[in-house]
Amino acid sequence: MRRILLLTLPLASAVFAANAPAPGGPTISIEEYDPKSTLRVPEHKLTRGKFPFIEVHSHHREVTPARLDQLIKEMDGLNMGLMINSPVGGGQGKWVAEAAATMKAHAPARFRVMTNMDQSKLDDPGYGARAAAQLETDIKAGAIGLKVWKGFGMTLQDSNGRIKVDDPRFDPVWAMAAKHKIPVLIHTADPWGLFQPMDKNNERWLELKLQARRNQSVQTDYTWEQLIEEQHRLFARHPQTTFIAAHLGWLGHDLGKLGAVLDRLPNVYAEIGAITSELGRQPRAAHRFFVKYQDRILFGKDRYDVEEYHVYFRLLETDDEYFDPIRKYHGIWKLYGLALPDDVLKKLYYKNALRIFPGLPSAGFPE
Ligand SMILES: [Zn+2]
Repeated sequence: MRRILLLTLPLASAVFAANAPAPGGPTISIEEYDPKSTLRVPEHKLTRGKFPFIEVHSHHREVTPARLDQLIKEMDGLNMGLMINSPVGGGQGKWVAEAAATMKAHAPARFRVMTNMDQSKLDDPGYGARAAAQLETDIKAGAIGLKVWKGFGMTLQDSNGRIKVDDPRFDPVWAMAAKHKIPVLIHTADPWGLFQPMDKNNERWLELKLQARRNQSVQTDYTWEQLIEEQHRLFARHPQTTFIAAHLGWLGHDLGKLGAVLDRLPNVYAEIGAITSELGRQPRAAHRFFVKYQDRILFGKDRYDVEEYHVYFRLLETDDEYFDPIRKYHGIWKLYGLALPDDVLKKLYYKNALRIFPGLPSAGFPE
């Protein structure tokens, strides 16, 4: 007993000393730890893209002439030539028709709109045909893409429980997208780490600490792997439908696997929103990936924030080293620029989007 006490004493005193100076200095939490780099290397803090770019993943519920004017000012500053706006959850029908009409009347060269899927009465045997008809109505009203939210596969339920990403009842919807050659921008799952136990080995530990509701490992009875496999089965079953996997299909940490998916499924593209920390920690592998798959990657950010675009430009265009990420909790490491060549940047920024989305205005985008 005495021996155990002696062994545990130093540990116990370390706990009690949390607020007292520890040997070598005060104890601080990982959230507080924010070392300022002493490294002196060239810096290129870009505030606009080298080429005009097409933003394929953005969300703005308010679509009024005044709001569009405000956005155009910010877009001009960033060199964003065109913004494709997705509804904020459940926008279809009237919202899409009004947004498309306002954009067309006010700034037809700068904005386009996508639609969402009707997800009402999912148990109804006529659901698929009805949802497909709604999509066709929205396309005729001006929608140039279908945005599928991450609730699809996670929170979306019918009377039997969770609906899988590749559930066949939606097949008429994917077929309708193929018929009109509009892409489906689909967000499935969340980063892998958010589905894993919150332990000392989890790279997303800090995010789980700060954003507890993102902890999928405690609130779901399905795995990340299941969701991603369902998504890939969906892609494979609809080769005529163009799919854009949002956030690199959450495979930014495994570009080899994403490359294999792109090799196997020529109808699949990927968009780079919210994964700058994944790319910026593997600048050489990511550079090779962007060169190899230069015809398959699109520029999208998802969360609209003018200043955060600056980090995207720096990451994609420069060879800067060891610079700050957008959000520390996406990874407690620094970023390194990919220094993509101009011809690859042009495809990423606008050429691929001009090819995939129907009817985009190409004026203003270089050859
Ligand atoms: Zn989104």
